[in-house]
Amino acid sequence: MIDWVASDIKFLPGVGPQRAAVLNKELDIYTQHDLLYYFPYKYVDRSRIYSIRELDGTMPYIQLKGQILSFEEAGEGRQRRLIAHFSDGTGVVDLVWFQGIKYLLGKYKIRQEYIVFGRPAMFNGRVNIAHPDIDLATDVQMSSMGLQPYYNTTEKMKRSFLNSQMIVKLMNNVIKQIKEPLPETLSPAIVSEYHLMSLTDALLNIHFPGNAELLRKAQYRLKFEELFYVQLNILRYARDRQRKYRGYVFSRVGDIFNTFYARNLPFQLTSAQKRVLKEIRRDVGSGRQMNRLLQGDVGSGKTLVALMSMLIALDNGYQACMMAPTEILANQHYETIRELLCGMDVRVELLTGSIKGKRREGILQGLLSGDVQILIGTHAVIEDTVNFASLGLVVIDEQHRFGVAQRARLWTKNVQPPHVLVMTATPIPRTLAMTLYGDLDVSVIDELPPGRKPIATLHQFDNNRASLYRSVRKQIAEGRQVYIVYPLIKESEKIDLKNLEEGYLHVCEAFPDCTVCKVHGQMKPAEKDEQMQRFVSGEAQIMVATTVIEVGVNVPNASVMIIENAERFGLSQLHQLRGRVGRGADQSYCILVTGYKLSEDTRKRIEIMVRTNDGFEIAEADLKLRGPGDLEGTQQSGVAFDLKIADIVRDGQLLQYVRGVAQQLVDADPNGVDPENEIVWKQLQALCKTNVNWAAIS
Ligand code: ADP
Ligand code: MG
Repeated sequence: MIDWVASDIKFLPGVGPQRAAVLNKELDIYTQHDLLYYFPYKYVDRSRIYSIRELDGTMPYIQLKGQILSFEEAGEGRQRRLIAHFSDGTGVVDLVWFQGIKYLLGKYKIRQEYIVFGRPAMFNGRVNIAHPDIDLATDVQMSSMGLQPYYNTTEKMKRSFLNSQMIVKLMNNVIKQIKEPLPETLSPAIVSEYHLMSLTDALLNIHFPGNAELLRKAQYRLKFEELFYVQLNILRYARDRQRKYRGYVFSRVGDIFNTFYARNLPFQLTSAQKRVLKEIRRDVGSGRQMNRLLQGDVGSGKTLVALMSMLIALDNGYQACMMAPTEILANQHYETIRELLCGMDVRVELLTGSIKGKRREGILQGLLSGDVQILIGTHAVIEDTVNFASLGLVVIDEQHRFGVAQRARLWTKNVQPPHVLVMTATPIPRTLAMTLYGDLDVSVIDELPPGRKPIATLHQFDNNRASLYRSVRKQIAEGRQVYIVYPLIKESEKIDLKNLEEGYLHVCEAFPDCTVCKVHGQMKPAEKDEQMQRFVSGEAQIMVATTVIEVGVNVPNASVMIIENAERFGLSQLHQLRGRVGRGADQSYCILVTGYKLSEDTRKRIEIMVRTNDGFEIAEADLKLRGPGDLEGTQQSGVAFDLKIADIVRDGQLLQYVRGVAQQLVDADPNGVDPENEIVWKQLQALCKTNVNWAAIS
């Protein structure tokens, strides 16, 4: 390593201790090397100056050269804004700011030559540019015309005059010191085989592109590298795990499975269910420990796949266990599975927190002796007091309620870790699953059982309640049940609770002939279960609830899901809630109730919900709208990652390609000893050292 790269950022000309502290704090930049890896978020083509006459409001970022004719302050409250009427002699545009009016009035002068950058838009028939970047025309050197980098900065940075322009200057100072090529971070073989730009050229061009083509090549090289190391890390981890742990071999499909298949299976398996079962059988027969993530939209029939996998374990002399996130769900699985196994000689038991005393003792004994073959339960099943004779397979339903640590506890339940099947109805886009759960294999049930009517989703404004309630009454008269859901983002939010209570009273008044039950997160578990049970049993026709009902509950007779304040829910959450209906043979409805005024994002979410029932499409859209960091379930995955330049959504294809490259390397050099790959393994080590999240999974 050349010294200067590793040297403290405060020694870089233009920085000093005070700005260094801001860079440390705001951007995690400590060295000049860190700064070099702080990439621009956009580039503006400054090779051309447009004239105002040409603008039509459909263009991307452009630049203009001209003068401010006059200022105008307009609007009240949040609409308050400063308008500068700007002209280049061919026409006038409005430059608009909603913040910092006083500061701006002091800074910009009338009748000065300025260069203005921004994205033109049409408003009331006039072209305007909101929050443009403005430079004195004399400050913009002709030599710097070309693709100009723009860097994200924070408010705190701006207060220390660390705006984008300043970062450009600092970057220049760093780059001036590059006299000889920086050490490569990919092997020569990879660089040449995949026609990658050298690291040094890539870094130079990512900050100061020679031209658009060089920029594209620089971006490709840096994205390639970033995704390559993420994948290499995951694949290496998976390989180590396979070496360390042998898996129990379920070599045969025997009497229990076959009897079930021939006599008890109430319907034909869908081809997706068959395919997934094959994948599972291959895993458990391979001698490797299975770690499989089974994704399937709500109602796609995951429980049956889980059951049949458990039967294979039984056929090979092992026990199986299934964990659900709530007592209600565990109960439901228990009932369903007992019913499915009716008449067969298989001992199934339920273990939850409320099963105590003699009954609990009996179950624990049965597990130790091997008499209990299938155990279904909540977290209670991973308590230390629960021990098995020979646990071979664990199924975890609705994975995102289980943390990595809890999963790990399961592994100690037998001499070798049992096979693990994790099921989730929160579909994670394939590309993301690959990055997050690279060590899990992924199966997908992408087909619903036949005969399901797609749920009809409607959007209604909340002033249209009368007609909404009329349709609900009709459904109830036909014997159906109805969910009404209120948002409760945090269990502690008092306002939400008030909304729910008011909603409940309101519903009781509007439906005097109905029994209404109520469930929310601040209730005691026992009380909650009791209320749920009233709905499950059919005693209550309407359930007023918060999102606590989101996961897994199966009431086939419920045909209407009303979501109040739907604007406050994320897409995945809306889809999960919708999945509570549409489980029976009748036409089901999901009604999204919102206020009249909706933001652009909300409008998009609602539009997607109304248009499609496809969980994967929704997950992709969710990812695009919110970014991967927010995606449900990723927080607890334990494989958080931080990408500097690649984008999981946009670069999904490259990700898959690069995974192949990484796989090849791991296969060809499983022990990491080939001198040709020395650079690669060293770089991976260095990355793991500096990146907490990366180290955490290894
Ligand atoms: P989820 O994937 O949401 O857990 P479930 O396993 O609860 O879905 O299945 C939903 C419903 O579909 C259940 O009532 C189940 O009996 C039924 N089902 C499952 N597989 C099939 C199939 N192949 N054909 C018809 N119905 C099925
Ligand atoms: Mg389920």
